[in-house]
This record gives sequence, structure tokens and C-alpha cells, in this order.
Amino acid sequence: MQPKTNIVHLPVYQPGKPVEDVKRELGLSEVIKLASNENAFGFSDLAKAAVIEELSNTPTYPDGASVELTAKLADKLGVETNQIIFGSGSSEIILMTARAFLAPGDETIMADETFSQYKHNAEIENARIIEVPLKDGKHDLPAMLAKITSKTKIVWICNPNNPTGTIVSHEELTAFMDEVPSHVLVVLDEAYGEYVQDSSYSDGVSMLSKYRNLLVLRTFSKIYGLASLRIGYGVGHADVIRYINQVREPFNTTRAAQAAAKASLSDDAFIERCAADNAKGIKYFSEQFDRLGLSYFESHGNFVMVDVKRPSQEVFDALLRKGIIVRPRWTYYPTYIRVSVGTMEQNEAFIKALERVLQEVTV
Ligand SMILES: *Cc1c(COP(=O)(O)O)cnc(C)c1O
Repeated sequence: MQPKTNIVHLPVYQPGKPVEDVKRELGLSEVIKLASNENAFGFSDLAKAAVIEELSNTPTYPDGASVELTAKLADKLGVETNQIIFGSGSSEIILMTARAFLAPGDETIMADETFSQYKHNAEIENARIIEVPLKDGKHDLPAMLAKITSKTKIVWICNPNNPTGTIVSHEELTAFMDEVPSHVLVVLDEAYGEYVQDSSYSDGVSMLSKYRNLLVLRTFSKIYGLASLRIGYGVGHADVIRYINQVREPFNTTRAAQAAAKASLSDDAFIERCAADNAKGIKYFSEQFDRLGLSYFESHGNFVMVDVKRPSQEVFDALLRKGIIVRPRWTYYPTYIRVSVGTMEQNEAFIKALERVLQEVTV
């Protein structure tokens, strides 16, 4: 057997370590996972009720086109229904976009430290990957613009960026879009957009009427708290959405996921509460890192990337022994860990453990 040569070297995706594994391996009864940017504040009660009700329809295939959910979201976003596509998480929209737009040898541009799936899917399509270094943890849009050639097909921008949490402003983004040639698709990943409180942030959907080559990605996995159900979406020009629909699997989202997403869209109060609680967590982390003399990127998401000034794997292992899971091993930031905002109790437990670990693991 011979797989495609360009996939042979690819790593299998390494998710945040599951709580159950850590409990078993280390014999711990209490484990706190702050490694996958999940919503520590749960999910909407309306979504829970909707899933339970929808379960009775389990033997029947879902609506492949998610008609009801699409109509509700289109209304909420102020776009046409043919401008929206749903995926099994926005990860699947990334996969489908790469599949629809990237042929072998095409060029695609992304930041050097950003969400791993842009590069991963581009490699599967055998595209040529051009990575542009972050500048102070932020996307360097002028440098990315300078890399565009006639062969460029997709530029990926993660806003806020995972893992650094930084944002590019509306002004920076529009200045960039104004210069991007029309043959280039810009994918703007707003997986954490609902958390952003900064008024300079751009709402990508509001820019769609001006730029037909913009695709905005969002997900129900983060602030909506539906990560296990797997549902996310893309919003863009109807032509872009049609191309992506052409490579979509017929039944790529489940009934339960569609029902939960639809119900969640009626619960703005839950989202507002989560954004407010998250902001408190970010503030708490910032104050504590300042107190401990650790530098970090100013985060607009539900996680913070902090420099622990020691090899991140060692700090990860030491935290793990205390029952706290974070995310280490960043290629360009070897002494940084990424920690997700938890409940205040979890945040405090993390800081307490980190303080002890910093004494144990010498510089
Ligand atoms: C979590 C995340 C996603 C997608 O998550 P799904 O669960 O597949 O919707 C997409 N982009 C970024 C930057 C993320 O952090």
C-alpha cells in the first residue's frame, strides 16, 4: 500500500490530554483540564432540552443542508441563507475549504504560530505553505500581504489568534483586505470572536458585503459550549459557499448538533454571561502573572499564553502531577504554556499549582 507521499510525514492531531487518562495514569481523583479552550461555564439549558427532544429522531438522517438552523443564523447575522455553510466543527470547514480551493503546488499563507489545522489541511492537498512570523504575538498583515503571488489561493487569519490570543483591528484588517487581489480567498477564523471586548475588533461578517473573497469561520465549540456535538459554520459570498458545499459530505452535521445550535442562538443571555465571566478570568490571570513576574500576550480569547521561562514540557509535567492540564510545546515559543480560562476556583487552583511548580522547576 502506498498513501499520498505528502501525508506520510504528517503527525496525528494531538488533542489536549483527556481528564480520564490523567486520573488513571497518575492515580489522581481531582483533575482540572485547562488545555482545549472549552467553555468551563457549561452550555445553554435551552440547547440541552433541544438535544434531549431531538434524540427521539435518531433513526432518521439529519437535514444535510441544515435548513432551519441556516435560516435562523442568516436572520441573526443579516446575511442570505446561501452565504452560510455548516460543518462538523469549524475544523471541517477548514478541511473543506482546503479541499475545494487548494491544488498541488498552490500557495497558501498563514502565521507561523497559529491554529494547526490550516497547515495540516494544506499539506494534505500538497499546497506550498508560506508561514509568516507573528510580530509580538500578532498577525503581521503587511508581511503576509507582501507574500501574495499569482499562485496564492488562501490566506488564513486567526482573529483572535490561537494560541497567542492577540487580535488585529478592524482598521488593520480593512487596510489589508483593500490590497488583497481578488483571486485570493482570505479565511478569517473567528472561533473566539464572541469573547472579544475590545472596540477596535472587527466583526468579519459586517465586512462581507464589501469583500467577496472573504470567508468568516465561527464555531459552537467555544463560547457556546457545544464542543462534543461538533458544529461550526462558515459565512461568505454565495459563490464561495457553493464551492465548499460541492465538497461537503451529505450528512456532515448531526440532528443533535443542529438542534443544540439552533436553541443556543436563542440564548444570548448565556453568551453574555460567559463573556463577562471569561473577562474576569483573563483579568485574574493577568494580575497573577504580573505578580509572578511572568510575561504573557494580551489575550482577547478564553485562554492566555504565558512565558514560564522554563522548558514548557517540564512545567507541563510538573503541573500534571498536581492534577492540572495545560498546553505546552509551541514551536516558536518553547518556554510558553497556553492555559484556558476555567471557573474562578479552577483558575485559582492553577495559579497556586503554577507558583509551586516555578519553585520546583529551576530556570
Ligand atoms: C477550536 C478552534 C476551531 C474549531 O473548533 P471546532 O470544534 O472544530 O469548531 C477553529 N479555529 C480555532 C482557531 C480554534 O481554536
